[in-house]
Amino acid sequence: MTVYGGMECGGTKFVCATGGEDGKLLARTEFPATTPAETIARALEFFGTQPHPLHSIGIGSFGPVDLDPASPKFGYITSTPKSGWHDTDLLGAVRRATSLPVAFDTDVNAAALGEARWGAARGLDTFLYLTIGTGLGGGAMVNGRLLHGLVHPEMGHIRVPHDLGADPFPGGCPFHGDCLEGLVSGPALEARWGQRGETLPPEHPAWDLEAHYIALGLVTWICTLSPQRIILGGGVMRQANLFPRIRAQVLALLNGYIQVPEIVSPVLGGDAGVLGAIALAAECGV
Ligand code: ZN
Repeated sequence: MTVYGGMECGGTKFVCATGGEDGKLLARTEFPATTPAETIARALEFFGTQPHPLHSIGIGSFGPVDLDPASPKFGYITSTPKSGWHDTDLLGAVRRATSLPVAFDTDVNAAALGEARWGAARGLDTFLYLTIGTGLGGGAMVNGRLLHGLVHPEMGHIRVPHDLGADPFPGGCPFHGDCLEGLVSGPALEARWGQRGETLPPEHPAWDLEAHYIALGLVTWICTLSPQRIILGGGVMRQANLFPRIRAQVLALLNGYIQVPEIVSPVLGGDAGVLGAIALAAECGV
């Protein structure tokens, strides 16, 4: 069996795993993202001690990242606010240490690829994968290819209508204040209501407001990308009562104009990111 390595590099933790074409993991580890040198060394140590030789490694990283193969900073984490990680040559470090082919993409694009291959988007060619937790990240597959473009989609930072009379919370994004991420992330929920989302009861007004903003974002992407399905994951979406509220608001906002895509949970759950990184590796050097 051909064995691939996958790295899901989050701002809080890294998940490293090995696996094959069947989407099953052979080995898996996770550890906190401390300094780049220490964290990358732990990942390399994991891959260096695997019993199976690896065909290639895929990296799905938090960002922003440079995905332009012609750029001198291809494979770097670039302008991240995460302390110590600005301009980190993640791809280069893994390539130099392993001498293997290494594929590189955003964490959410990798997760989207994993869901396309083994999860909630099998058989689809145009869909979105969104994670709503410490931030809001979006990956997209369009006509069977992951969407990149000038940089890569940064769906969390779109603008949505924000009625300051109804919701005086100014938003928590360090770059834009009340962009979508600044209004709906887990930290924004906690800052607005003074308690963590998981402690708010299902009847709390927080959830209708949360669903309202998320639905505004979804309607924008439904009208621009025409996704066949939208997958919503991440810590905030563990609040299951959000799904019917979001579906109802999307339906109301579109107002019968076009068909509403299915809005579903990820099938791969917490392993979507690292399985997606393995899927990236499987496409590498084919
Ligand atoms: Zn923002």
